[in-house]
Amino acid sequence: MYDSQNIFARILRGEIPCRKVYEDEFALAFHDIMPKAPVHILVIPKGAYIDLPDFGQRATSSEIQGFFKAVAKIASDQGLSHQGFRSIANTGVHGGQEVPHFHLHLLGGGPIGPMVHRETV
Ligand code: AMP
Repeated sequence: MYDSQNIFARILRGEIPCRKVYEDEFALAFHDIMPKAPVHILVIPKGAYIDLPDFGQRATSSEIQGFFKAVAKIASDQGLSHQGFRSIANTGVHGGQEVPHFHLHLLGGGPIGPMVHRETV
């Protein structure tokens, strides 16, 4: 069940500030508080969705379209589209998701390096 007290829900309600990059009817984008790249932006849908599968299953076609149109605009406006960037949607425990409101990380501004670093066991 969606936790309406998660930090991104609180940012959406204006209870916690963020360094806003973009906002429209479908999406809010802001700088990650602990950036992992020269540019590290989080894009979140306005609706209450826990993770990527939840968004894919329950969001309306216009919410999904609006969200990804926003992602494309943000990537272009922030100068990420020309040289490229990485987008990551961590999901659940194995995905290392910390905040249970669906979000897409946009990482760029320089080479991001290997796709995944996995600890050897
Ligand atoms: P994830 O592990 O995919 O759930 O990513 C959560 C991200 O949210 C992390 O990269 C955090 O640094 C970021 N984060 C947590 N709290 C805030 C906040 N108040 N403002 C901006 N980013 C945040």
